[in-house]
Amino acid sequence: MDRRKVLSASAVTGLAALAGCASGAPQGNATAGSRTVFSVAQPMLPIVGTSDMFPVRRIYCIGRNYAAHAREMGSDPTREPPFFFQKPSDAIQFVAPGTTADHPYPTLTKNYHYEIELVAALDKGGRNVSTEQALGLVFGYTIGLDMTRRDLQRAMGDEKKPWEIGKSFDRSAPIGPIHRVAQIGHFTKGAISLKVNGAVKQNADLSYMIWSVAEQISRLSQAFELMPGDIIFSGTPENVGPVVPGDVMQGSIAGLPTLDVRVV
Ligand code: MN
Repeated sequence: MDRRKVLSASAVTGLAALAGCASGAPQGNATAGSRTVFSVAQPMLPIVGTSDMFPVRRIYCIGRNYAAHAREMGSDPTREPPFFFQKPSDAIQFVAPGTTADHPYPTLTKNYHYEIELVAALDKGGRNVSTEQALGLVFGYTIGLDMTRRDLQRAMGDEKKPWEIGKSFDRSAPIGPIHRVAQIGHFTKGAISLKVNGAVKQNADLSYMIWSVAEQISRLSQAFELMPGDIIFSGTPENVGPVVPGDVMQGSIAGLPTLDVRVV
């Protein structure tokens, strides 16, 4: 690179830094020639049957997507359009199949709840994606827990404040590896369940979802531009409940290995 190009590259770097959010450019993209002052780990998940990793960009979660769970949370499932929230991508806690991961009981809560969920992982993005096209964005699926500080979520909801502290805290998303659609197909039905210390707590079927994975992707893409690396927690069935240190959770979805987590 000659001297003029170097100068021009630094000018671009300076501009991008000055413009910040106002530039309208995708944020977080390094400008050529720039260097970060420290590194930040890219959250990622193993892809079953390969040595490749799936980099996680955003974690979207859909709320109250099974009618019986919507009712237990005090809402009317027949009237509510789907709604979404996010967890930070580094909230994932990878749990390898065949192992039981230690999951620390979080701070601040006295009512820590499990929510077992099917998770869809995208390798393509888009805006205003139709329901018919939506599954074409899905790279694979896995099983995850949308762990929730229920007391804090409820308290914030009562005060009309954001859910973050109840939903989007560190390690709030224990999750298995990604299984490619090419290997296992799509999940539109099949048993989904959660045991605590061997006792069945949640037990339902993926077909009971109010909004299918395809419909979730389509709706989400109206609100956000979806991108490769986005993962979507597709909601939990009824009978959410608390765990305490020492409890062992086992999540199951027909066709996937179990997700095994010990609260410590
Ligand atoms: Mn959930």
